Amino acid sequence: MKRALIAPFILLLLATGCAVKNAQSEPKEAAQLALIGEAEYDKYFTGETMRFDFQHSGNSDEEHYSYDRMKREGEWAGSRKALINPFGYGEQYFRIVDTEENKIIYQNNYCTLFNEWQTTAEAQTTTRSYPEGVIFPCPKRNFTIEIFARNKVSKVFEKKFSYNARIDDYNIEPYKKKYESVDIHIGGTIANSLDIVLLPDGFTAEEKDKFLDACKAWQDALFGYAPFTGNKSRINIRAVWAPSQESGISVPGKGEWKETLLDCRFYTFGSERYQMTDNLQKVRDVAADAPYESIFILTNSDKYGGGGIYNFYGLGSAGKTGKTGEVYVHEFGHSLMGLGDEYVEKGNTVSALYPAGKEPWEANLTTFVNFNGKWEKMIKEGTPVPTIVNDSLLALPDTEWPVGAYEGGGYLEKGIYRPWPKCMMNQLYNFCPVCCAAIEKYLDYICK
Ligand SMILES: [Zn+2]
Repeated sequence: MKRALIAPFILLLLATGCAVKNAQSEPKEAAQLALIGEAEYDKYFTGETMRFDFQHSGNSDEEHYSYDRMKREGEWAGSRKALINPFGYGEQYFRIVDTEENKIIYQNNYCTLFNEWQTTAEAQTTTRSYPEGVIFPCPKRNFTIEIFARNKVSKVFEKKFSYNARIDDYNIEPYKKKYESVDIHIGGTIANSLDIVLLPDGFTAEEKDKFLDACKAWQDALFGYAPFTGNKSRINIRAVWAPSQESGISVPGKGEWKETLLDCRFYTFGSERYQMTDNLQKVRDVAADAPYESIFILTNSDKYGGGGIYNFYGLGSAGKTGKTGEVYVHEFGHSLMGLGDEYVEKGNTVSALYPAGKEPWEANLTTFVNFNGKWEKMIKEGTPVPTIVNDSLLALPDTEWPVGAYEGGGYLEKGIYRPWPKCMMNQLYNFCPVCCAAIEKYLDYICK
């Protein structure tokens, strides 16, 4: 899902994402498959990480997946109990089915840059592919990996790809450590913490200290905001040091090109400040050298920009852009758990991204189709809904702002509502109480 802080105009093109309900819309057959229990990790998994790489291709109307490779990586950094993502966020999910018992033993949700590209004008006239990959705990036995994506109209998940894997397949590549990993902050055990990996792009071999300083600044930014401040003991932050050939980041719109390890660049989809890389596989190749669940890329640039996509990666410029720390935290809100942008674009009244009559899957936006499944219970009696924001309210300390349903969010002026007048997902303010509660809930799951 498009989660660039900075140039949301591309969303207006032919954006597609939204969910029917806040819950996962399961395909019919899923009901017939058993689910792994919380105490069954050791029965089904080895303790390593397995990675499955594929090409995600298509155009504005269709998408396809094709096999690239399978490889083993280091220790599984995720929970050994929370193996089935229950939140229903995202545009895609994948699951691992144990062949012998026909049982779902792992499931996780995510979004992709490809899905955003599908909303651009280019996707209407051409076909292209993006290298993608997912990681999961390494199964002990033969398994099937299945990938689901939301139908463009109904928004219900449909199965798009299936691959039967043999665990003794000699084509499964072994893990070989290539880069140095550095502990930035260790709050708890790998299994019971959120493990974040910070990756460099555009830093040369001589700029290691500059990158590590940026990692420290990233940590300080994250822990400067609730609810992360109070969760230090269940968050680990590690960096992988992997130098690039050239210093700096490509800015194609200005004719500036750099040879960098992860191919990050500005002008993604023609938007100057949307800084991303097309190649998730390159990103995962470097990330693999630290145990990780969540990736954030720090680029060697003083230019304002970044992006963040749910369970894909987040990205921000490491240089002093004026709002460096806030951009880190905002984009991390997207990449960690798919929080929606709560801001409004003046004059924007229609978007296929958030069509009327559909509830967004994001925890912090509602169209009232399923408000009960969102933060309705957090609104105190007597608070009018919709809730009005005016200068006298904004003059109060934010501790006195009521949780409500303020019109405007998801880039739209009308028909969609946010929980608070301002938020980190809106004006780089503090996270609103609804975002805080959603992050806490997500951390409770990840850190089980
Ligand atoms: Zn919020």
